[in-house]
Amino acid sequence: MQNILELKNIGYSYHSLQGETKALENISFGVAEGEFVAVAGPSGCGKSTLLSIISGLIEPETGTIAVNNPDGSLHYPRVGYMLQRDHLFEWRTIYKNVILGLEINHMMTRERLAYVDQLLFDYGLDKFREKRPSELSGGMKQRAALIRTLALDPQLLLLDEPFSALDYQTRLMVSADICRLIRNTGKTVIMITHDLSEAISLSDRVILLSKRPAVVKVQMPIQLTLADDSPLAARNAPEFQYYFNQLWEELNSEGKEM
Ligand code: ADP
Ligand code: MG
Repeated sequence: MQNILELKNIGYSYHSLQGETKALENISFGVAEGEFVAVAGPSGCGKSTLLSIISGLIEPETGTIAVNNPDGSLHYPRVGYMLQRDHLFEWRTIYKNVILGLEINHMMTRERLAYVDQLLFDYGLDKFREKRPSELSGGMKQRAALIRTLALDPQLLLLDEPFSALDYQTRLMVSADICRLIRNTGKTVIMITHDLSEAISLSDRVILLSKRPAVVKVQMPIQLTLADDSPLAARNAPEFQYYFNQLWEELNSEGKEM
Protein backbone atom coordinates (compact mmCIF):
# COMPACT_ATOMS: atom_id res chain seq x y z
CA MET A 1 0.00 0.00 0.00
CA GLN A 2 1.33 3.43 -0.79
CA ASN A 3 2.02 5.98 1.90
CA ILE A 4 -0.43 8.86 1.89
CA LEU A 5 1.92 10.87 4.12
CA GLU A 6 5.69 10.86 4.02
CA LEU A 7 7.54 12.84 6.69
CA LYS A 8 11.16 13.62 5.84
CA ASN A 9 13.72 15.00 8.28
CA ILE A 10 11.23 17.01 10.32
CA GLY A 11 12.90 19.24 12.88
CA TYR A 12 11.49 21.84 15.27
CA SER A 13 12.71 24.09 18.09
CA TYR A 14 10.82 26.42 20.40
CA HIS A 15 12.43 29.80 20.86
CA SER A 16 11.97 31.98 23.92
CA LEU A 17 13.87 34.63 25.86
CA GLN A 18 15.45 31.84 27.92
CA GLY A 19 16.83 30.26 24.77
CA GLU A 20 16.10 27.43 22.42
CA THR A 21 14.31 24.15 23.17
CA LYS A 22 14.98 21.59 20.49
CA ALA A 23 11.91 19.39 20.35
CA LEU A 24 12.23 17.32 17.16
CA GLU A 25 15.22 16.24 15.12
CA ASN A 26 15.31 14.45 11.78
CA ILE A 27 11.96 12.70 12.11
CA SER A 28 11.18 10.58 9.05
CA PHE A 29 8.42 8.03 8.56
CA GLY A 30 5.53 7.22 6.24
CA VAL A 31 1.89 6.47 6.95
CA ALA A 32 -0.11 4.18 4.67
CA GLU A 33 -3.77 4.69 3.87
CA GLY A 34 -5.99 3.03 6.45
CA GLU A 35 -3.07 2.34 8.76
CA PHE A 36 -3.31 2.83 12.54
CA VAL A 37 0.04 4.15 13.72
CA ALA A 38 0.92 4.74 17.36
CA VAL A 39 3.65 7.24 18.19
CA ALA A 40 5.02 6.53 21.65
CA GLY A 41 7.70 8.26 23.65
CA PRO A 42 8.49 9.74 27.07
CA SER A 43 6.58 12.75 28.43
CA GLY A 44 7.88 16.04 27.07
CA CYS A 45 9.81 14.46 24.20
CA GLY A 46 7.94 16.34 21.47
CA LYS A 47 4.96 14.11 20.58
CA SER A 48 2.32 16.86 20.65
CA THR A 49 4.65 19.12 18.70
CA LEU A 50 4.94 16.45 16.02
CA LEU A 51 1.16 16.07 15.85
CA SER A 52 0.71 19.84 15.55
CA ILE A 53 3.11 19.80 12.62
CA ILE A 54 1.26 16.92 10.93
CA SER A 55 -2.05 18.72 11.47
CA GLY A 56 -0.65 21.88 9.89
CA LEU A 57 -1.08 23.97 13.06
CA ILE A 58 2.64 24.72 13.14
CA GLU A 59 5.23 24.75 10.38
CA PRO A 60 8.26 22.49 10.68
CA GLU A 61 11.57 24.31 10.97
CA THR A 62 13.28 21.76 8.73
CA GLY A 63 12.03 18.93 6.58
CA THR A 64 8.93 18.27 4.53
CA ILE A 65 5.67 16.35 4.55
CA ALA A 66 4.79 14.88 1.16
CA VAL A 67 1.23 13.87 0.30
CA ASN A 68 0.36 10.98 -2.05
CA ASN A 69 -3.38 10.59 -2.24
CA PRO A 70 -4.56 7.30 -3.79
CA ASP A 71 -6.52 9.27 -6.40
CA GLY A 72 -3.42 11.22 -7.39
CA SER A 73 -4.76 14.52 -6.05
CA LEU A 74 -2.34 16.75 -4.17
CA HIS A 75 -4.55 18.25 -1.48
CA TYR A 76 -3.55 17.74 2.16
CA PRO A 77 -5.85 15.20 3.84
CA ARG A 78 -8.68 16.67 5.92
CA VAL A 79 -7.60 16.28 9.52
CA GLY A 80 -9.72 15.42 12.57
CA TYR A 81 -8.20 16.00 16.01
CA MET A 82 -9.09 14.27 19.29
CA LEU A 83 -7.44 15.49 22.44
CA GLN A 84 -6.81 14.27 25.96
CA ARG A 85 -10.07 15.54 27.37
CA ASP A 86 -13.33 15.11 25.55
CA HIS A 87 -13.89 18.90 25.46
CA LEU A 88 -17.65 18.59 25.44
CA PHE A 89 -19.47 21.75 26.50
CA GLU A 90 -21.75 21.34 29.50
CA TRP A 91 -24.04 24.16 28.33
CA ARG A 92 -24.86 22.26 25.16
CA THR A 93 -26.80 19.02 24.80
CA ILE A 94 -25.00 15.98 23.43
CA TYR A 95 -26.60 16.58 20.04
CA LYS A 96 -25.56 20.23 20.03
CA ASN A 97 -22.06 19.12 21.00
CA VAL A 98 -21.63 16.57 18.23
CA ILE A 99 -22.79 19.01 15.53
CA LEU A 100 -20.59 21.83 16.85
CA GLY A 101 -17.85 21.30 14.27
CA LEU A 102 -20.39 21.29 11.44
CA GLU A 103 -21.92 24.49 12.81
CA ILE A 104 -18.59 26.31 13.09
CA ASN A 105 -17.49 25.21 9.62
CA HIS A 106 -20.86 26.01 8.01
CA MET A 107 -21.26 22.39 6.94
CA MET A 108 -24.73 21.62 8.29
CA THR A 109 -25.86 19.86 5.13
CA ARG A 110 -28.58 17.21 5.08
CA GLU A 111 -26.03 14.48 4.32
CA ARG A 112 -23.76 15.42 7.20
CA LEU A 113 -26.61 15.66 9.69
CA ALA A 114 -27.94 12.30 8.51
CA TYR A 115 -24.46 10.84 9.02
CA VAL A 116 -24.38 12.24 12.58
CA ASP A 117 -27.81 10.69 13.25
CA GLN A 118 -26.51 7.37 11.97
CA LEU A 119 -23.43 7.52 14.19
CA LEU A 120 -25.51 8.48 17.26
CA PHE A 121 -27.65 5.45 16.54
CA ASP A 122 -24.76 3.06 15.79
CA TYR A 123 -22.81 4.16 18.88
CA GLY A 124 -25.82 3.78 21.19
CA LEU A 125 -26.12 7.50 21.95
CA ASP A 126 -29.43 8.10 20.24
CA LYS A 127 -31.33 8.10 23.53
CA PHE A 128 -28.90 10.63 25.02
CA ARG A 129 -29.23 13.36 22.40
CA GLU A 130 -30.91 15.81 24.76
CA LYS A 131 -28.75 14.98 27.79
CA ARG A 132 -25.86 17.08 29.08
CA PRO A 133 -22.27 15.72 29.05
CA SER A 134 -22.22 15.36 32.88
CA GLU A 135 -25.09 12.87 32.62
CA LEU A 136 -22.99 10.47 30.51
CA SER A 137 -20.31 7.97 31.54
CA GLY A 138 -16.68 8.58 30.56
CA GLY A 139 -16.97 6.01 27.79
CA MET A 140 -20.10 7.58 26.32
CA LYS A 141 -18.54 11.03 26.42
CA GLN A 142 -15.57 9.72 24.42
CA ARG A 143 -17.99 8.21 21.91
CA ALA A 144 -19.69 11.59 21.60
CA ALA A 145 -16.30 13.28 21.10
CA LEU A 146 -15.53 10.74 18.38
CA ILE A 147 -18.82 11.45 16.60
CA ARG A 148 -18.08 15.18 16.69
CA THR A 149 -14.70 14.46 15.07
CA LEU A 150 -16.09 12.05 12.46
CA ALA A 151 -18.94 14.42 11.54
CA LEU A 152 -16.48 16.48 9.49
CA ASP A 153 -15.49 13.34 7.57
CA PRO A 154 -11.75 13.66 8.17
CA GLN A 155 -9.39 11.53 6.07
CA LEU A 156 -6.72 11.50 8.73
CA LEU A 157 -7.46 11.15 12.45
CA LEU A 158 -4.95 12.57 14.90
CA LEU A 159 -5.36 11.44 18.49
CA ASP A 160 -3.23 13.14 21.15
CA GLU A 161 -3.23 10.89 24.23
CA PRO A 162 -7.00 10.67 23.92
CA PHE A 163 -7.50 8.40 26.92
CA SER A 164 -4.94 9.67 29.40
CA ALA A 165 -7.46 11.70 31.42
CA LEU A 166 -9.36 8.50 32.29
CA ASP A 167 -8.57 6.29 35.26
CA TYR A 168 -6.74 3.05 34.44
CA GLN A 169 -9.64 0.60 34.26
CA THR A 170 -11.97 2.95 32.41
CA ARG A 171 -9.12 3.65 30.03
CA LEU A 172 -8.63 -0.03 29.18
CA MET A 173 -12.30 -0.38 28.28
CA VAL A 174 -12.78 2.98 26.56
CA SER A 175 -9.60 2.83 24.49
CA ALA A 176 -10.52 -0.66 23.23
CA ASP A 177 -14.05 0.51 22.44
CA ILE A 178 -13.11 3.76 20.70
CA CYS A 179 -10.32 2.15 18.69
CA ARG A 180 -12.64 -0.63 17.51
CA LEU A 181 -15.13 2.02 16.32
CA ILE A 182 -12.35 3.97 14.61
CA ARG A 183 -11.04 0.84 12.87
CA ASN A 184 -14.50 0.15 11.52
CA THR A 185 -14.39 3.52 9.73
CA GLY A 186 -11.23 2.41 7.86
CA LYS A 187 -9.65 5.82 8.43
CA THR A 188 -5.95 6.51 8.65
CA VAL A 189 -4.97 7.17 12.27
CA ILE A 190 -1.96 8.58 14.06
CA MET A 191 -2.32 8.14 17.82
CA ILE A 192 0.06 9.64 20.35
CA THR A 193 0.53 7.85 23.63
CA HIS A 194 3.15 7.55 26.36
CA ASP A 195 1.78 4.10 27.26
CA LEU A 196 3.64 1.28 25.48
CA SER A 197 0.94 -1.31 26.25
CA GLU A 198 -1.72 0.93 24.77
CA ALA A 199 0.41 1.51 21.67
CA ILE A 200 1.03 -2.22 21.14
CA SER A 201 -2.52 -3.40 21.78
CA LEU A 202 -4.24 -0.82 19.57
CA SER A 203 -1.99 -0.11 16.59
CA ASP A 204 -0.59 -1.69 13.42
CA ARG A 205 2.81 -0.12 13.97
CA VAL A 206 4.56 1.57 16.87
CA ILE A 207 6.95 4.41 16.18
CA LEU A 208 9.06 4.93 19.27
CA LEU A 209 10.55 8.37 19.87
CA SER A 210 13.55 9.08 22.08
CA LYS A 211 13.55 11.66 24.84
CA ARG A 212 13.89 15.29 23.77
CA PRO A 213 14.94 16.22 21.15
CA ALA A 214 12.86 13.38 19.75
CA VAL A 215 14.38 11.18 17.07
CA VAL A 216 12.80 7.94 15.80
CA LYS A 217 14.40 5.18 17.86
CA VAL A 218 12.63 2.25 16.27
CA GLN A 219 9.57 1.39 14.17
CA MET A 220 7.89 -1.87 15.04
CA PRO A 221 5.10 -3.46 12.99
CA ILE A 222 2.66 -5.20 15.32
CA GLN A 223 1.00 -8.55 14.60
CA LEU A 224 -0.98 -9.98 17.48
CA THR A 225 -2.71 -13.35 17.15
CA LEU A 226 -5.60 -12.38 19.41
CA ALA A 227 -6.13 -8.88 17.99
CA ASP A 228 -9.32 -9.92 16.20
CA ASP A 229 -11.04 -10.63 19.49
CA SER A 230 -10.41 -7.25 21.10
CA PRO A 231 -7.52 -5.00 22.06
CA LEU A 232 -7.99 -6.22 25.62
CA ALA A 233 -7.52 -9.85 24.56
CA ALA A 234 -4.56 -8.74 22.46
CA ARG A 235 -2.71 -7.93 25.66
CA ASN A 236 -2.68 -11.67 26.40
CA ALA A 237 -1.31 -12.61 22.99
CA PRO A 238 2.03 -14.43 23.26
CA GLU A 239 3.73 -11.78 21.07
CA PHE A 240 2.59 -8.92 23.28
CA GLN A 241 5.27 -9.43 25.91
CA TYR A 242 7.93 -9.74 23.22
CA TYR A 243 6.99 -6.38 21.66
CA PHE A 244 6.75 -4.77 25.06
CA ASN A 245 10.21 -5.97 26.11
CA GLN A 246 11.79 -4.86 22.83
CA LEU A 247 10.30 -1.37 23.05
CA TRP A 248 10.99 -1.09 26.76
CA GLU A 249 14.65 -1.92 26.19
CA GLU A 250 14.90 0.66 23.41
CA LEU A 251 13.27 3.26 25.62
CA ASN A 252 15.63 2.59 28.50
CA SER A 253 18.81 2.15 26.49
CA GLU A 254 19.02 5.93 26.11
CA GLY A 255 21.01 7.00 29.12
CA LYS A 256 23.73 4.45 28.46
CA GLU A 257 24.39 5.63 24.91
CA MET A 258 25.14 9.20 25.91
P1 ADP B 1 4.98 15.70 24.61
O1 ADP B 1 3.70 15.89 23.91
O2 ADP B 1 5.82 14.57 24.10
O3 ADP B 1 4.81 15.60 26.09
P2 ADP B 1 5.52 18.42 23.65
O4 ADP B 1 5.56 18.27 22.19
O5 ADP B 1 4.28 18.98 24.24
O6 ADP B 1 5.90 17.02 24.34
O7 ADP B 1 6.74 19.33 24.12
C1 ADP B 1 8.09 19.04 23.78
C2 ADP B 1 9.02 20.01 24.49
O8 ADP B 1 8.81 21.32 24.00
C3 ADP B 1 8.79 20.07 26.00
O9 ADP B 1 10.06 20.18 26.60
C4 ADP B 1 8.00 21.34 26.20
O10 ADP B 1 8.29 21.92 27.45
C5 ADP B 1 8.45 22.21 25.05
N1 ADP B 1 7.37 23.08 24.59
C6 ADP B 1 6.14 22.68 24.20
N2 ADP B 1 5.39 23.73 23.79
C7 ADP B 1 6.17 24.83 23.96
C8 ADP B 1 5.99 26.23 23.72
N3 ADP B 1 4.84 26.71 23.23
N4 ADP B 1 7.03 27.06 24.00
C9 ADP B 1 8.19 26.58 24.49
N5 ADP B 1 8.44 25.29 24.73
C10 ADP B 1 7.45 24.41 24.46
MG1 MG C 1 1.70 15.93 24.60
